[in-house]
Amino acid sequence: MAAPSQPQKATYDAIVIGAGIQGSFTAYHLAQRHRDTLLLEQFPLPHSRGSSHGQSRIIRSVYPQECYSRMMPDSFRLWQRLEAEAGTSLYRRTGLVVLGPAGDPELEGCRRRLGDNHVLDAAALAQHFPGFRLHAGEVALLDSSAGVLFADRALRAVQEVFRRHGGTLRDGEKVLCIEPGAMVTVTTTAGVYQAPRLIITAGAWTGALLEPLGLRLPLQPLRINVCYWREKQPGSTSTGTARPCFLTLGLSQAPHGIYGLPALEYPGMVKLCHHHGSPTDPEKRDQTPLGASCPDIALLSSFISSYLPGLETQPAVMETCLYTNTPDEDFILDRHPNFSNIIIGAGFSGHGFKLAPVVGKLLCELSLGEEPSHSMAPFTITRFPGVLQAAL
Ligand SMILES: Cc1cc2nc3c(=O)[nH]c(=O)nc-3n(C[C@H](O)[C@H](O)[C@H](O)COP(=O)(O)OP(=O)(O)OC[C@H]3O[C@@H](n4cnc5c(N)ncnc54)[C@H](O)[C@@H]3O)c2cc1C
Repeated sequence: MAAPSQPQKATYDAIVIGAGIQGSFTAYHLAQRHRDTLLLEQFPLPHSRGSSHGQSRIIRSVYPQECYSRMMPDSFRLWQRLEAEAGTSLYRRTGLVVLGPAGDPELEGCRRRLGDNHVLDAAALAQHFPGFRLHAGEVALLDSSAGVLFADRALRAVQEVFRRHGGTLRDGEKVLCIEPGAMVTVTTTAGVYQAPRLIITAGAWTGALLEPLGLRLPLQPLRINVCYWREKQPGSTSTGTARPCFLTLGLSQAPHGIYGLPALEYPGMVKLCHHHGSPTDPEKRDQTPLGASCPDIALLSSFISSYLPGLETQPAVMETCLYTNTPDEDFILDRHPNFSNIIIGAGFSGHGFKLAPVVGKLLCELSLGEEPSHSMAPFTITRFPGVLQAAL
C-alpha cells in the first residue's frame, strides 16, 4: 500500500479500476499477454465491502440464456487453468438441482440444454438431495457438472498469479478522477497514472465513476442478505458438504429465485438466499441495520417450511453482500461510447462470479482491440437508450 505522503507517478500499458473478481481476472489476462498492468483497489485487501467476498459461489453449466451457456465451457477451462497456475483447489463438484413449475420458460430452456435424462424423479431427487420436497406440478433437473467455487481463495489466487506475471496491484488507493485521452490519466488518493487503455470494473461504484465521463448506466446496487440456516437435527438433512447446490426458477412465491449451497462456511448450516435485495448506495450499505425490514427473510422461511423442513426457519447467521443489477440482469461489457479506450465491465446482477475468467478475457480483448472470443451483442451499452449525457 502506498503512503499518501509519497505520490506515485507512472505509465502503464493498461490500468484496471477495481480488484474484485472481474477486475482481477481482467488484469490477470492482460499481464499474461505481457501488458504492464496496474490494478487499483480503493480498500485494503482483503475486504468485504463489494461483491466478491465470502467463501462460496455456485458454478454451473446450465443457464436459461444461451449466451451464458456458451461461455461456460470456456469458463470451466479457465478456472482449471488458474487452479493449476496457483497450485490450489478452487472448485468442488457437488451438482446443482434446478427446480420449478413444469412449463416455466426458463426451466424448460434448462431442460432442453441438459436433456430429458437429467430430469430427476422423486426417487432420484431423494437420493441426490435427501430432505428436499418437490411439490405437485414441479420439475427437478440435475446439472451434474455444477459445484461450488471457493470465492475468497479464488480472488487471492488470481491476484497472486497476476502479480507473478509482473502485474502491479495497489490497494487502499481510491480512484478520484479519470481524464480521457489517447493516454487516459487516472488520479488516485496516492498518485497519478497514465495508460493507453483503462478498464473500469468497479462493481457497485461503477455509476459514480462513469457519471463524470458523461455516461449514466442503469445500474442498481442491491444490498443482499446472505443467510445461513441450521439443521434442526445435526446431520439429518441436506447440509453435507458434497450435497448439491440448488436454485429455483419460476416459483410464483419467489419470482427472482432462491438458491442454496451445502454447508461449507459454517458446519451444519445451509447457505440459502433470495436472489434479490433492497436498493442501496454502496457508501451507505450498512446504514440499514442487519436484518431490519427483511421481507426476504419471511420469504425464505416460508420456502424452508415448504421445501426443506429439516432446517430451522430463522437464519442462524446473516452477512451482507452487494449485487449491481441491470434492468435485464445481463452484463455490460463494452467500450465507452465516446472514449473507445475506456472499457466497462459492470452490472453482473448477482451471477457474475462463475463467468469472471471469461469476462476478464473479453474485457482484455476489447481493450487490446482484438476480436472478442464470444459474441458481445447481449452485453452492449446501446441496448439501454438515453444513457449518454451531454458531451464532455
Ligand atoms: C451474496 C452473493 C451471492 C452470489 N452468488 C453467486 C453465485 O453463486 N454465482 C455467481 O456466479 N455469482 C454470484 N454472485 C455474484 C458475483 O459475486 C458478482 O457478480 C461478482 O463478485 C462481481 O464482481 P465485481 O468485480 O464486478 O465487483 P466487486 O467485487 O464489488 O469489485 C469491484 C471493486 O472495485 C473497487 N472500487 C470501486 N470504486 C473504486 C475506486 N473509485 N477506486 C478503486 N477501487 C474501486 C471496489 O472496492 C471493489 O473491490 C453473488 C453475489 C453476492 C453478493
